[in-house]
Amino acid sequence: MEEEVRIKDSDLGSTFIDKIKKYKTYLIVGAVVIVIICIFLIFRSKGSSEHYDYLIVGSGLYGATFNYLAKLNGKTTYIVERRPVVGGNLYCEKMEDIWIHKYGPHVFHTDNKKVWDFVNNMTHFNPYIQQTVAKVEDKLYSLPFNMWTFYQLWGVTTPEEAKKKIDEQKYTGEIHNLEEQAMSLVGKDMYEKLIKGYTEKQWGRECTKLPPFIIKRLPTRFTFDTNYFNDRYQGIPEGCYNAMMDQLLKDTKIETGVDYNKNRKKYEKMADKIVYTGKIDEYFGYKLGKLKYRTVRWDTEVKDVANFQGAAVINQPDKNVPYTRVIEHKHFEPHNKELQAKQKTVVSKEFSEEWDETKEGYYPVNDEENNNLYKQYKELADKETNVLFGGRLAEYKYYDMKDIIENVFKQWNY
Ligand code: UDP
Repeated sequence: MEEEVRIKDSDLGSTFIDKIKKYKTYLIVGAVVIVIICIFLIFRSKGSSEHYDYLIVGSGLYGATFNYLAKLNGKTTYIVERRPVVGGNLYCEKMEDIWIHKYGPHVFHTDNKKVWDFVNNMTHFNPYIQQTVAKVEDKLYSLPFNMWTFYQLWGVTTPEEAKKKIDEQKYTGEIHNLEEQAMSLVGKDMYEKLIKGYTEKQWGRECTKLPPFIIKRLPTRFTFDTNYFNDRYQGIPEGCYNAMMDQLLKDTKIETGVDYNKNRKKYEKMADKIVYTGKIDEYFGYKLGKLKYRTVRWDTEVKDVANFQGAAVINQPDKNVPYTRVIEHKHFEPHNKELQAKQKTVVSKEFSEEWDETKEGYYPVNDEENNNLYKQYKELADKETNVLFGGRLAEYKYYDMKDIIENVFKQWNY
């Protein structure tokens, strides 16, 4: 019996070896596959060990300020930015030694001391007061609406005369749109000469179809004060906004050239919470329809003169001029005497256009139709429990810089 068993065992052994020989190739392939899977899992687990409190989508003012305060509160952050550079629309570039506000002129102004102190802690602000001029045909007018404007338009010299003139022609009914709002503030002449053409070019819509609040951004005053803003504090950072943004983004891991919406699977797991500052409709794949935005384009040229137009901004309310304003960038740095003396200047004509997917969205079109669509997107956004939607594009609101900073302060009870 024992002999028989031994014989059977050795038979079994040789069968096993034969089988191994037979399936050798399969076994090698299987082993290689297992090794590859193990390597993949090791790398994946290493990747996911990079976990943050916040993934911030967009390095503009909202994202950067949020980043700063998050870190101040001991949180970890990671930023993804679609553009090749950080700073959103505050990004500046030098041309002929002149700082160019690449995505449109930005003058920082606020009434809130805490906000002013906060930005001044980031970088030095040069004093700057925006004084805008408007050109219609061959005439120049001072903006915002002030005693100089009333004098230039009607020849009146006292506040009483100016008020009388406005009272004679102002709209007194209920206000439903921008036209009625403008006519109730400054009367028909001023509306037709300085508001209608500019507004319809900027927004690509009739003033009767636009919301009243847009024109209320501009002060109307019966003094000779030509400051474009009413706020107590105003300035532009030394080294343009890059210096300020660099501080807000200091020591932060930032990946540029990343479209979050196209790579969401990869990034959303990286953090407990997401701060999204892009377009809200794009976040939801435009599934309820596209919100409308206005975009801006500049035709920029270098001129071999020290001073081309004598002002940083000359508005063009004339409907026959295709651009809305002309920017002469060096006048945003009036303290820089060397630059002012230089026989070179950079001038940009600003054109306002309707947004499409090939362009950058700048201004939300807050008319009734778009606000209603935004409300529906907002309902979806509210259901995204770990995503915070913040800023001009994500909240579809015409915010100024100071509003953005105040909003982030509120998020952090700062
Ligand atoms: N506006 C105008 N004429 C001008 C400048 C402005 O009618 O010469 C109106 C226009 O409707 C514009 C609004 O005032 O949208 C607000 O202007 P603001 O300068 O605040 O616009 P920004 O370019 O700063 O967003």
